[in-house]
Amino acid sequence: MSLSLIAKSIKPSPTLALNEKFAILKEKGDPVIHLGGGEPKTRVPMEAIMATVAHVNTGEVRYAPADGIPALKQAIIRYTEEFYNRKVTPQHIIASSGAKQAIMVALQAILNPQEEVVFPAPYWVSYPDMARLIGAIPVSAPAEDGTFYPAIKDIEDRVGSYTKAVIINSPNNPTGAMYSEEFISDIVQFCEKKDIWLIMDDIYHRLIFDGKKPINALKYAKKQDENSKIIIINGVSKQYAMTGFRIGWAVGNKKVIAAMSNIQGHQTSGPSVLLQKAAVGALNGIQSSVESLRVTLENNRNVMIGLLNSFEGVKVTKPDGTFYCFADFSVYNKSSNALSAFLIDKVQVLTVPGAEFGLEGYLRLSYCGTIKDIQDGIERMKWALDPNSPNELYIGDRKLVRDWS
Ligand code: PMP
Repeated sequence: MSLSLIAKSIKPSPTLALNEKFAILKEKGDPVIHLGGGEPKTRVPMEAIMATVAHVNTGEVRYAPADGIPALKQAIIRYTEEFYNRKVTPQHIIASSGAKQAIMVALQAILNPQEEVVFPAPYWVSYPDMARLIGAIPVSAPAEDGTFYPAIKDIEDRVGSYTKAVIINSPNNPTGAMYSEEFISDIVQFCEKKDIWLIMDDIYHRLIFDGKKPINALKYAKKQDENSKIIIINGVSKQYAMTGFRIGWAVGNKKVIAAMSNIQGHQTSGPSVLLQKAAVGALNGIQSSVESLRVTLENNRNVMIGLLNSFEGVKVTKPDGTFYCFADFSVYNKSSNALSAFLIDKVQVLTVPGAEFGLEGYLRLSYCGTIKDIQDGIERMKWALDPNSPNELYIGDRKLVRDWS
């Protein structure tokens, strides 16, 4: 079949594929544990539900403006003032169908085919394919010191005359690493000096631990307002556990936001008004759910790290935020895809292979589920991988028997 070159260059999203796999196994009644997920399971804020229902009840569910409804823009203006200490106007904001779409239209607005976008590795699975979708070239930058914390030199070394943008995601999916103030300050200054775009994917910025505070890249910018090439990305998916509502946004200079709105207007139009109303409810409502999610995640992280530290051979870096832990399982298998498939097959634990994030030998484990899932999941993994394990493992009343060594 004659599909386009772009279509042929794009891989399916591995995390979405895993969610489908989970749904299928669950439907079959298999006792599967999903440690590969990317969404908190806490309740959506009540204000979000009420705002949606109130709007449905008006019966007036029509097209929304391509760049977002005024009430959502007002809520984002307040958010930007609170977390970025910056007063913006509605023309500096676009609301999209998830942070994913906000990043996508930003890339479409700033990159030409064959131009390059640089991001630290490990990276969020979608960045490379998003770049390929517009014929641009993704360039990943692993930290030379082998840690999850890039140094400015790691980025500088990969920025050349074709580089148009850098994407920074901190705290990071998949590692949970939150980059230092110093690194953020350096990257802002470096991008300004080179006159390239800096996309700050701040989707996890409030889900951070150990007393850390969200970092504001705008604080370090010398170019203010309309000369600034910093685009801040955020959304309600993670912090308000509203993944299915598909509302994210971007804040940037007026010209880039106008270009993004134009593109989005032709691609999808504005996000559903119902879901935008829900986001307004969450952003303007009582914020205690964010803190309670954050505390839960910090506790879950501690449990997972404790268990992984006692997992012989596994090397782990303590995440500073998000709900992911990126652990080195290379002693068991150098191929993360093979290892992840083995764990599904033998003990029905879902993990995401590190190769998908640009680092072989690792698995991404999520701690956004229950403590029981974390404990049982890691116990099953240990049983499957440790050759000294007893021959049998009970999952409920099901008996698993080792038929491998
Ligand atoms: N950026 C990162 C780093 C993410 O992990 C995700 C979601 N997995 C997104 C963006 C997209 O979020 P949304 O659900 O708002 O599209």
